[in-house]
Amino acid sequence: MVSAGTDAAAGGRGISLFLVDKGSPGFTIGRDQPMMGLRGTSHVELTFDDVPLDRQCLLGAEGAGLRLALETLGRVRLAQVGARAIGKATRVLDLMADYARERQQFGSRIGDFQLIQQMLADSASEIVTARLLLHRAAWELDQGGDGRDLIAMVKVHAAETLGRVVDRAVQVFGGMGFCQDLPIERYYRDARIYRIFDGTSEIHRTAIARSLLKRGSGLYDVIS
Ligand SMILES: Cc1cc2nc3c(=O)[nH]c(=O)nc-3n(C[C@H](O)[C@H](O)[C@H](O)COP(=O)(O)OP(=O)(O)OC[C@H]3O[C@@H](n4cnc5c(N)ncnc54)[C@H](O)[C@@H]3O)c2cc1C
Repeated sequence: MVSAGTDAAAGGRGISLFLVDKGSPGFTIGRDQPMMGLRGTSHVELTFDDVPLDRQCLLGAEGAGLRLALETLGRVRLAQVGARAIGKATRVLDLMADYARERQQFGSRIGDFQLIQQMLADSASEIVTARLLLHRAAWELDQGGDGRDLIAMVKVHAAETLGRVVDRAVQVFGGMGFCQDLPIERYYRDARIYRIFDGTSEIHRTAIARSLLKRGSGLYDVIS
């Protein structure tokens, strides 16, 4: 288990990361919290109460924990949140398109109705935009940049695209979209956390706005 704390040895100046073994005194593993979605994963409460730590428990350099965490989190955000959200949205759009080709109502395929087409078209456009942004952010990391502004944009855009796509999917599938016989209702429940974990949409928007106020148009001049 990785735990963070201010490091007294560093004069309380920095945050340090520590590895804490299961079974350490003062470290308690609590209940597995039931959740709206992602029910195949666990979300467990951990309590740290005066856990004795020595230098062997230190992860990385003393007082450098925040930098280490931020560097790691940026990449995790891009891959495990941004790319995963886009992948899920793409899968859900494929299911929507298949259903729109097959489902017949009023003598037509529902995919022939323009209001259904709008939901398909908006989903496709938003997914492609999110993918391009993701690739641009990954390219910036490959060039040695920290990519933090683009990663924040990917996080917000991919998470919110996924939310809109799964919502439209429930609509396109009609009553079947609400039933547990199909995976759509599960995708809908699982999507909600993407706007919350790894920094909420509000926090990432705050970071983007702060950067815009500081850097000006350099922030969105990303074509090179
Ligand atoms: C399934 C799941 C998995 C998770 N996985 C991880 C993980 O692997 N690692 C990890 O570290 N955390 C993880 N988390 C925690 C998650 O990152 C936090 O729940 C999330 O960052 C929001 O923090 P909070 O719950 O304390 O909400 P709060 O910070 O209390 O926020 C509540 C509301 O206030 C808003 N808000 C707060 N501050 C501001 C502000 N300054 N300006 C505007 N609005 C604001 C928030 O956007 C939100 O809408 C996980 C949570 C869940 C449910």
